[in-house]
Amino acid sequence: MTEQSPALDNLLTESRTFPPSEQFAAEANATADWYAEADADREAFWAKQAERLHWDTKWDRVLDWSEAPFAKWFVGGKLNVAYNCVDRHVEAGHGDQVAIHWVGEPGDTRDITYAQLKDDVSKAANALTSLGIEAGDRVAIQLQMIPEAIVAMLACARIGAVHSVVFGGFSPSALRQRVDDAEAKVVITSDGQYRRGKAAAMKAGVDEALEGAASVQKVVVVRRTGDNLEGEVPWTEGRDVWWHDLVDAQSAEHTPEAFDSEQPLYILYTSGTTGKPKGILHTSGGYLTQVAYTHDAVFDHKPGKDIYWCTADIGWVTGHSYIVYGPLANRVTQVVYEGTPNTPHEGRHWEIVQKYKVSIYYTAPTLIRTFMKWGADIPAKYDLSSLRVLGSVGEPINPEAWMWYREHIGDNRCPVVDTWWQTETGAIMISPLPGVTAAKPGSAQRPLPGISAKVVDDTATEVGKGGGGYLVLDKPWPSMLRGIWGDNERYRDTYWSRFADKGYYFAGDGAKYDADGDIWLLGRVDDVMNVSGHRISTTEVESALVSHPTVAEAAVVGATDPTTGQGIVAFVILRGAAGEEAGGAEAIQALRDHVSKEIGPIAKPRQIMVVPELPKTRSGKIMRRLLRDVAENRAIGDVTTLADSSVMDLISSGLKTDS
Ligand code: ATP
Ligand code: MG
Repeated sequence: MTEQSPALDNLLTESRTFPPSEQFAAEANATADWYAEADADREAFWAKQAERLHWDTKWDRVLDWSEAPFAKWFVGGKLNVAYNCVDRHVEAGHGDQVAIHWVGEPGDTRDITYAQLKDDVSKAANALTSLGIEAGDRVAIQLQMIPEAIVAMLACARIGAVHSVVFGGFSPSALRQRVDDAEAKVVITSDGQYRRGKAAAMKAGVDEALEGAASVQKVVVVRRTGDNLEGEVPWTEGRDVWWHDLVDAQSAEHTPEAFDSEQPLYILYTSGTTGKPKGILHTSGGYLTQVAYTHDAVFDHKPGKDIYWCTADIGWVTGHSYIVYGPLANRVTQVVYEGTPNTPHEGRHWEIVQKYKVSIYYTAPTLIRTFMKWGADIPAKYDLSSLRVLGSVGEPINPEAWMWYREHIGDNRCPVVDTWWQTETGAIMISPLPGVTAAKPGSAQRPLPGISAKVVDDTATEVGKGGGGYLVLDKPWPSMLRGIWGDNERYRDTYWSRFADKGYYFAGDGAKYDADGDIWLLGRVDDVMNVSGHRISTTEVESALVSHPTVAEAAVVGATDPTTGQGIVAFVILRGAAGEEAGGAEAIQALRDHVSKEIGPIAKPRQIMVVPELPKTRSGKIMRRLLRDVAENRAIGDVTTLADSSVMDLISSGLKTDS
């Protein structure tokens, strides 16, 4: 047998650990014995989790994997997803509990109880039915973070229609692609949206998108910006209808029908960090089971006591699973905020935490690093003592960002949970349990009870402790994707072909085990650099850079190099006022030496460029492929899912380099 090189060299070390307090551990929802219980009988464990829900008909089989990789969970079971998220809480006497504390960007607020939510969802369900929508039909939703977005999603679920939510900031062509791909019959949108204090048109873009769209019969328009929006809202008679005209007139009585456990619930396109977005299909019973279970176990959510806030947009899977379905199934009281974190000031999030006494806060590393850049004195001005659990999702969180989050937001008291998952996995897969795990900054650590994941090499052999490789999921899980919409071939090809012999799902991410066997995510395998034969992850070099006091954010890429194969090129954003002086040649040399000291001379960047911004997707992930284009002096590639396309010009024009 030939000797296989590991898929990744394992460089960075981290030895800090933070166990939960005794009190937190004693009161936690999830306990350590769940791991053994799930290992002993995985299907029995999941069946127990499914009992969290109300089933009109109980399943007769937990899992049917006979047509792998197409799974069926809770076979024969029937349930209504919206009933589980809303009605049953009202029936259990919690109608007066606030479900949503909504905060508009301009400062207007709405508190919506479960009883009101039930009426709103019922009316919207009746409205969709009146437009001819039936179970299985697709409805596209392009809305900003307003309550109607959640109501519209639940209304679809209630009647068995399949929603496809499109991020509110996406262009007409992105919307059109998604509408056509799913053949949506109805599109739900708004007149305009508030963004950084200004009203911007939304319906106008939707109209542009839908010109000649064959499948679309009706467009429902929520009035949000009203008279604050300049110009007329374009209107197509016969096709367009105002939400308030249509929905308000409906009856609040609606009997939820029980649907098959495998009834399609939604289609959602991935972020497009690595290429063309894929239309991921999720279904009902298994999905709702796993999002409810993980929301309870990972965030330690106590219904009726906690105030929860997930800062994601409903345009991303995090918004679907951890604003809408998981939390509402668990009778959450949650904050939903419409705007950006610095409108009208950089303390907006902390002001909201203080006002609503938020106890569980779930956000993304990109935002944590932005908060670091703005400075710790901003959160210090607010009372954040209500917080008790902090979460992170979306990218690997650099250990220094994790430490900053724990210290400056969590007062060194709140457990931090780094949750790894994907649009495709539907729910959290790898994460510490806040009352069980001694947390390590920067590590997602261990698959949740019921989940199985491994780090393997090129030959699908599991690597040992200290080894790096490919992250695979070797057992099916309830909230797994059921396919790519309309393209079974692409589904098999994209996720199941790399390790087909073993039947492993390959997620696209690299990872390593540390000496304790805990998992560290190392970014996309496509981003792995090869420097003089060493396979180095971008994440580790980025984390080393971010651990330097002058650096707020870093993105690292491998650029073709005549001597080493690839050379490491780093793009860094400097922190606050440190910015100017820290950009000089000496300071850059100090950063290179710092990386060398932290992880070894092999990882020393060939070049470091100071930039004002980094290219990110609309969901906040760094798009390294565009930086690789810069580093290799190529024309910049596809930028359609970039949050701000002017960033690339800023980077190209203002480069300060050391060479
Ligand atoms: P596309 O698949 O279209 O390129 P995407 O992978 O960015 O887009 P998502 O499904 O939104 O789309 O993101 C999932 C990915 O995000 C994971 O595969 C992983 O790379 C990254 N990720 C999410 N959470 C974490 C985490 N806690 N630690 C490390 N990486 C994470
Ligand atoms: Mg992906």
